[in-house]
Amino acid sequence: STFVGASFGGIAELYAQIQKAIGATERVFELLEETPEEINVEANGAHEKIKGNVAFNNVAFSYPSRKEIEVLKNVSFTAEFGQKIAIVGPSGAGKSTISSLLLRFYDISSGVITVDGKNIYDYDLENLRGNMSIVPQDVILFGGTIKENIAYGKPDATDEEIIQAAKQANAFNFVNGFPEKFETLVGERGVKLSGGQRQRIAIARALLKNPSILILDEATSSLDSESEKLVQEALEILMEGRTSIIIAHRLSTIRSADKILVLDNGKITEEGTHQELINLENGIYKNLSNLQFTHN
Ligand code: ADP
Ligand code: MG
Repeated sequence: STFVGASFGGIAELYAQIQKAIGATERVFELLEETPEEINVEANGAHEKIKGNVAFNNVAFSYPSRKEIEVLKNVSFTAEFGQKIAIVGPSGAGKSTISSLLLRFYDISSGVITVDGKNIYDYDLENLRGNMSIVPQDVILFGGTIKENIAYGKPDATDEEIIQAAKQANAFNFVNGFPEKFETLVGERGVKLSGGQRQRIAIARALLKNPSILILDEATSSLDSESEKLVQEALEILMEGRTSIIIAHRLSTIRSADKILVLDNGKITEEGTHQELINLENGIYKNLSNLQFTHN
């Protein structure tokens, strides 16, 4: 039905329509490519527990679809186990790409990424991802019960474990408020949860999975302040005792990080603690934080 107009507009019109159809298809594939994998990370189990030391060493990367653009250039940093590393920088700087590479969604062009000193490409993929959790900005739950969604990363979890995780994630109260409680269906056929509620389900899921490495990708950036407070509290509990990579454009959430990396146009331009970066004359972080903290 896309081509109905062709007989009126002739070949040029047909060509334009085909181009449009191809463009739309490509965009659909882009969406399909990213989403299921991000969900699937949580389905992987760890057969071997890792400690969670992460190192990027001179990592460069271009997306396969746009080889001519180097999205990351010579990116080097370390995250020792248990540390909180924050990555800040403008939209399009390459922050989410760093997390995609650590999760091995794409192969790097050059450099090395290690986890506990071992090249990530030498790990069994399921085991590597089994040790990681990601809480993205937009959590997508699958059609099923809340209980199934929480237990996704640990299918043999007991009811007590699920309830305990929900409590720690600040999700218990709203779940318990539904008539069907943990058996409540979510997704298209079920209740519609708010962004903050979906995130708290994702946090409960990650708590059960108990990963060594946690990635938070702008996890609190689209929430209202009440929801943000509940999610932030839950995230603090989730981050305890793990290596956390926190991608944030709200600086208030990262002031306590062990190390902050400023990423600009694919390069790390500043690195240090909040206190160190705030003292850099003409620093990007200093400017960002002057702008934001006056508003908060
Ligand atoms: P940030 O998270 O800092 O906003 P991203 O890592 O998402 O930045 O993106 C960095 C750059 O890579 C941007 O120019 C973006 O357009 C591009 N990019 C992101 N995802 C893809 C993809 N799947 N395919 C091609 N280019 C991409
Ligand atoms: Mg991003």
